[in-house]
Amino acid sequence: MRRSVREGWPGLRLPPLLLDGPPGIGKSHWARRLGALLSAPVTVIEATGESASFGVVGSQRGWGGAHPGRPIETVLQTLIGNPVIVVDEVEKAGTITSNKGTAYGLTEGLLPLLEPLSARRWSCPYYQVKFDMSWVGWVMTSNDYRRLPAPLLSRCPPLRLQALTLTGLIGFARRQGGARGLSETALATLSRCWKALQCGRITLACARSSGCWTGPLIFRTPRPSTNARDDGARRRARMNMKGNDMSEDDLIAPGARRIMRAYPSVYGTGPRTIRNSLLGDGFLCGPGWYPLIERLSADLAEIVREDGLKRFRVVQVKEKFGGLRFYVKGGNERALDRIAEAVQEAERTCEGCGAPSSIRSIDGWLTTVCDDCRLRGR
Ligand SMILES: [Zn+2]
Repeated sequence: MRRSVREGWPGLRLPPLLLDGPPGIGKSHWARRLGALLSAPVTVIEATGESASFGVVGSQRGWGGAHPGRPIETVLQTLIGNPVIVVDEVEKAGTITSNKGTAYGLTEGLLPLLEPLSARRWSCPYYQVKFDMSWVGWVMTSNDYRRLPAPLLSRCPPLRLQALTLTGLIGFARRQGGARGLSETALATLSRCWKALQCGRITLACARSSGCWTGPLIFRTPRPSTNARDDGARRRARMNMKGNDMSEDDLIAPGARRIMRAYPSVYGTGPRTIRNSLLGDGFLCGPGWYPLIERLSADLAEIVREDGLKRFRVVQVKEKFGGLRFYVKGGNERALDRIAEAVQEAERTCEGCGAPSSIRSIDGWLTTVCDDCRLRGR
């Protein structure tokens, strides 16, 4: 910010950022918050699958369903030249191959936009006009930067973020509690809670929806859970603390396990652990979405068979910002279209019970969980 003022630039110019760290520590949330604090428009592009490169650069007129890229769309809609563009989980983007056999990868599309010189005269494939995109603030997030190609890393060295530690949590609780005027007794209780948590005597739960970990956190004493997802998250938390591996039978909710086993051409076969697979603890979403995921899986199995997709695999299934994220690799346009359909269906479906619902904000957190489920704490 200081540099932008010192150089006399007409606006704020952010160097591209790559935030790398374990899931659930708030990378995407931070990126959104940055945009809000800068009063800059924020556009989030999910690198969910192969279509992410089109989300960034847009597609040439003449392609089926051609459209401009989201960054240029944001600039034209808001008439602000330095929006914050968040590319979420950038390492999960795959490559899409056109009918003519040309490959379009996300990183190939991103590189010219990250390089100031080429970004200044970036040629939009859709409008076929040059734009100065060098003011765009790029924030990328990744869980594992090692899966990113070297040219991207050289332009954008990863900012390594650590997972939360007990000492870090206690320090954070003390600082925040102190600033809010909590008594010494309350602060000591908080520290004891974190420690009990580490021993597994109590567990943390998300107040927004069980197992989602994006809402305010509440403490709970362990009890046999009827909620498959909550159970998986708690087992995972406990296992992380003890550091030993558990089999997928222990970790994956029965409903999710049945779907994954029914469609091996879609999900692959085991053994999976949470160390070797992002599906190691099943679907990180509520059971209300399982039926639509099952229908999606059946259709994907058909597409895999009919179109001979040999390398197709589901990489991860989870809820984020109230929406279904269904990450795959080795797909084609047909598979991605079908996934997009399911994502839209999930937006209208309560994640807890499957009843009709919609994405809304509860205490600032986005969710499809209906009122009944929220009151039941699902
Ligand atoms: Zn519900």
